[in-house]
Amino acid sequence: MSSNPNNENKRIRSIRGKLQWMITGTRLGGAFWSSFGLFLLIPILWAVFCEISALGRVEWTYKHFFNISQGFSDLTYNVTDPAGTVLLSQKIADVVAVSLGVSASIFVLKVIGALLSIPEEQKKINKTLAPIDALAARADEISNFEFNEDKYQLLEKAISKIEPEDNKEILLPDPELQGIETAMNSLIGRMKENYRQQARFVNDASHELRTPIAVIEGYANMLARWGREDEKVLDESITAIQNEAHNMKHLVEQLLFLARGDAGRTELKLENVELNSLIMEIYEESLMIDELHPYKIRTYERPLNVMADPGLIKQAVRILVDNAAKYTENGDEIVLASGMNEAGRPYLMVQDSGIGMKESDVEHMFDRFYRADEARTKEGTGLGLSIAKWIVEKHKGSFSVVSRTDLGTRICINL
Ligand code: ATP
Ligand code: MG
Repeated sequence: MSSNPNNENKRIRSIRGKLQWMITGTRLGGAFWSSFGLFLLIPILWAVFCEISALGRVEWTYKHFFNISQGFSDLTYNVTDPAGTVLLSQKIADVVAVSLGVSASIFVLKVIGALLSIPEEQKKINKTLAPIDALAARADEISNFEFNEDKYQLLEKAISKIEPEDNKEILLPDPELQGIETAMNSLIGRMKENYRQQARFVNDASHELRTPIAVIEGYANMLARWGREDEKVLDESITAIQNEAHNMKHLVEQLLFLARGDAGRTELKLENVELNSLIMEIYEESLMIDELHPYKIRTYERPLNVMADPGLIKQAVRILVDNAAKYTENGDEIVLASGMNEAGRPYLMVQDSGIGMKESDVEHMFDRFYRADEARTKEGTGLGLSIAKWIVEKHKGSFSVVSRTDLGTRICINL
């Protein structure tokens, strides 16, 4: 692989030339204007000096003017009073000539200085542009890269050696294939992580299902052996089996939702949703379902219209409200709200005054099957928030969470 030095840096060279011209041009312009200023300044200072020597001061009410009636050698500086009496008429041609000579010399010196400093400036420009040079050369190398038969075979061999279980990475002996090697290893890494996550999910799910199945089996065995004669045992067994079956149904529904979501089989039915009405609906339902907590509602003063799947968004907010109720003592307040945040995004909020969470729990609360130790006294699977997260992410929304142990939790869904 070779890069063509003629093409490689054509653009960079043109940038370099333009920069050089800009710097030299600015210097030459500066030299001209400063010399020109000096050329004007010397005669003016001289005139002021003469006026002060002759009249003792500069009187601004007098008329000051230059006169060039017979030619440059007769150039005079004149001062007359308001009556027209000539108070000063000073020959100034020599001073102007000297001024011209001095400023022209300075200009020439500065031009020479500017020209002499070009090589030094070029060095500085080269140093500054070195990273861009390297980038251009690399881009050129990539565009000239020839992917021939040998390289195909190298790649094929390396890929065929990969096994899903081992942690080996692809190693390509050809340095030109470095970019492909890195990209493929990162792809393989992500696929393996996905595979591990799926395996962990199935493992956790089986583990969660084992407990209710074991309980149901236990009671059924007890009934089969001797329990059916004893009415008390019979009642207890039926209640336990009903409870466990209910929990299992809930868990299986949650697992099915996530599995369908992962497989891309849950489609959003987007429509215009007004968030004030949605949160009001959830508020009224919560009042009916849960009489143990006082609920409050705050809605935004203007309509909040978003394109969303109303059923799914409602499900996500319900998950938050269920958690708020579950992790807040009876009698303590739960607030539902809709609003517009500083970034101009509409949000739905659920705030409780319950057990709250530690920072380390907040970091993991959306992980599948995660439950904080403090939450384990209550029933649950640790899947609710993973479902809410899936729904919100599908809507390209986000969560903001504030939680303090023993003070409470506030979770916003920003849409
Ligand atoms: P389920 O799947 O039945 O909802 P869960 O409530 O335990 O079970 P998530 O809803 O996913 O699961 O919540 C995960 C964990 O986050 C909870 O176990 C709890 O530790 C913590 N958590 C969530 N919401 C709150 C809250 N409002 N207050 C305190 N802790 C909370
Ligand atoms: Mg929950």
